Amino acid sequence: MTRTLRSLLAAIAFAAALPVIAGCTTNPATGQSNFTPFMTPAQEVAIGRQEHPKVIREFGVYDEKPELNAYVAEIAFRLHSVSEMSDQPFTFTLLDSDMANAFAIPGGYVYITRGLMALANNEAELAGVIGHEIGHVTGRHSAQRSTQQIFAGLGAAAVGVALGNQAAAQVANMGALAWVQGYSRSQEMEADQLGIRYLTRAGYDPMAMASFLEQLGRETALSRRLLFQEGQATPADSWFSTHPRTEDRVVAAAQSARATVSNPRVGRDDYLRRIDGMIYGDSPQQGYVRGRTFAHPTLRLAFEVPQGFRMINGNTNVIAIDERGAQIVFDGDQAPQGMAMTDYIVNRWLEGRRPDGLERIDVNGMQGATGNLRLDGRNGPVDVRFVAVRWDGETVYRFLFVTPANITASYSEPFRRTSYSLRRLSTGEAQALRPLRLSIVEVRAGDTVESLSRRMAFDDFRRERFMVLNGLDSEGQLRPGMLVKIVVEG
Ligand SMILES: [Zn+2]
Repeated sequence: MTRTLRSLLAAIAFAAALPVIAGCTTNPATGQSNFTPFMTPAQEVAIGRQEHPKVIREFGVYDEKPELNAYVAEIAFRLHSVSEMSDQPFTFTLLDSDMANAFAIPGGYVYITRGLMALANNEAELAGVIGHEIGHVTGRHSAQRSTQQIFAGLGAAAVGVALGNQAAAQVANMGALAWVQGYSRSQEMEADQLGIRYLTRAGYDPMAMASFLEQLGRETALSRRLLFQEGQATPADSWFSTHPRTEDRVVAAAQSARATVSNPRVGRDDYLRRIDGMIYGDSPQQGYVRGRTFAHPTLRLAFEVPQGFRMINGNTNVIAIDERGAQIVFDGDQAPQGMAMTDYIVNRWLEGRRPDGLERIDVNGMQGATGNLRLDGRNGPVDVRFVAVRWDGETVYRFLFVTPANITASYSEPFRRTSYSLRRLSTGEAQALRPLRLSIVEVRAGDTVESLSRRMAFDDFRRERFMVLNGLDSEGQLRPGMLVKIVVEG
């Protein structure tokens, strides 16, 4: 968690202010003359320039290792230089987010997350993702959509968080990613075709596009297992859901293109050596999920969720869910100094609605308040408990506890303990919190999936995490001399 909901709301305000202007242009990548009723190229550049700083604020730039940024830029500009927009300036940014995602906004701004880099297993896979995103820009896909379409999902997401309904778990990390939702299937196919074109022109193996989709599939399946979401729709924040595609079509397109590249570059060892030491998972600015504890060394706070809950550390909040559908949403807000927390809940949080059982509480010496409401959820009545705590100055932290009404009673004590577990970290405690990092190791004779998995700094699913991280489907794929990724305490 790095910030409050304000950035989401600011983005919605921006959407409302954007003018709608008609124009007719020729698409530089496809050569088609297409009617683009919503944005001219000049408008796209203006929007990109305006939105880029917001994306940076939302996610932060990962620039701990400048040579890594230089490496990404080198690959990206190699692809850009063979695209139809090589004469227009592009900006490539590595974002400090552990979600495996990539997206482009109008005007040539392309973003890749370090989470995506951690998942990729070679340079060609990274190049494939970048090529695809360049394809969305050169194909002028944003220009073909109205801003209402672009931002429709965003408004719904903000409402979802406010009500703590079932959508809440799916909106962690959304923010600027709402830009890319709503590309059509045909636009995705076109971006793949353009991406494959740039990959082959730059000498990369175009099959990497498909192998990375497969890798994302492994990661998505494991994430669902970790979050009790097996069988459910893809989480809203992965590259999968924002760029829906069919793997066989990508394979078919790549196979025909492959014949045209002699000695296609994959760059596995080069790539792995470059990402050695990169932060894996949450960074210090985002706070860490460690088992049932969330601890944030920069904000200097910690709390603990009940047994059986799994946490998702988003940009604007921390969400915890359990198998029975109970949810906890933790985030920050601001309230004028001197405003009682009971007033905050009624007048600010609930905008005039008075919850039942409104009362003041004391949380480890901090002023707080709590109350509850029964609301209509998508699958029947839900109970929502509101807890707000005055941290310091104007800062307020708050918990939203949501349970299907029929199971609320059994959660009152565990939720109460979570509320009262919110506390300040000492300097020593904050300093002792270290991020996890990727470590690239060479497989030695006698190493097995089992022995390498034991070196993974996790309490659970070590073997599964190791296999997915390295794109392995069986023990037999491990060979002495091969480089593999493990995750260690930094
Ligand atoms: Zn796409």
